[in-house]
Amino acid sequence: MRVAVSACLLGAPVRYDGGAKPCPEVLELAEKVEVVRVCPETASGLPVPRPPAEQRDGRVFLSDGRDVTAEFARGADLSLAAVRRSPVSLAVLKAKSPSCGVGLVYDGTYTGRLVAGQGVFAERLAREGICVVTEDIVRECKPSVEHPVAIVLGSGLGHLGSLVRPVRRIDYRDIDGFPVTARPVPGHSFEATVGTIDDVPVVVYPGRIHLYQGYSAAEVTALVRHAHHLGCRDIVFACATGAVPGNAGVGLGILTDQINLTGRNPLAEWDGLRDVESPFVDMNDAFSPYLRSIARGVADDLGIHVEEGVYAGVLGPCFETPAEVAALRALGVSYVGMSTVCEVVMARALGMHALGLTLAANESGAPAVSHESVLAEAERHAEDFERLVRGVLRLL
Ligand code: SF4
Repeated sequence: MRVAVSACLLGAPVRYDGGAKPCPEVLELAEKVEVVRVCPETASGLPVPRPPAEQRDGRVFLSDGRDVTAEFARGADLSLAAVRRSPVSLAVLKAKSPSCGVGLVYDGTYTGRLVAGQGVFAERLAREGICVVTEDIVRECKPSVEHPVAIVLGSGLGHLGSLVRPVRRIDYRDIDGFPVTARPVPGHSFEATVGTIDDVPVVVYPGRIHLYQGYSAAEVTALVRHAHHLGCRDIVFACATGAVPGNAGVGLGILTDQINLTGRNPLAEWDGLRDVESPFVDMNDAFSPYLRSIARGVADDLGIHVEEGVYAGVLGPCFETPAEVAALRALGVSYVGMSTVCEVVMARALGMHALGLTLAANESGAPAVSHESVLAEAERHAEDFERLVRGVLRLL
């Protein structure tokens, strides 16, 4: 996997003040991927050190008043050309910088105030369709004992739990909000394991309950709240789905977005909502672009065939009619399943970073689909699924 990284984050003394801003988490990531080191400002020929620069009214000025918009544009173009020569799927750029900032930049008053905006170079990369994040995202997504990665497994995918070096086990019946009388459907088990996979701290939930079993949206999201309570910031949702013919094929997929067709929302049913800052949760980037890029890069590096597409969550438990399949195809849906959407809503409400991985075990609407055939297909892809998840954990 090749990643563009701001040179100052890697310890190069290229900032306006002659210093660097090395980030340990980015340095660690850089050791595991192929790095394209970028610094648009030095690429443009601007001296180091120099007065600081900030954006104002679409232009860039040094604090001494000099307009350096043209220099910033030239540096961004030269750095973009370097990235095009060595294509990347991800860029990790220095936060808030007028060149590299993502989402927030200094507002041109040199008072430390921030405004919504993109650095000149970051904007060019985003326009190329490259996932652009700051070092803050890499830091937040870095697993630790305090912040293990939660992994929620779906039908037939629970074997991943056997890879965990266990530290302790948690009976789902001891999880707040999880229905004590719930029994797992075939292919699921109801005991979470806290431990490590390849030395990465994880909490694996090897089974879930579903709306179609009569549980509430609050109950089906109890595991997500539990993971958050344990300190998890990243959460991987794995689910079995049907591939919508014409939009996706049977096999592994990375979820890019979701459509909640269950008619239910956990935030409308959850007592804890009043403790959340706002019930109006931003569902842009429901699935973390950073984690998706990592998963894509791992799949490509390992030669695992993985498609990408939108997931539609339905109530179930019956499979789709031909008319419903046609409607899903027209909606741009690639995968349809009976879980995950409510969990992702809850994860986003709690500020967690979600990655959705699916095993499309059959074509949606195909005749004679049985739960057993879903489990058999899951078995066929078990090894690739395991390699994909382990590869993602290794890079985080
Ligand atoms: S933020 Fe970007 S342009 Fe500024 S010093 Fe770092 S790499 Fe160079």
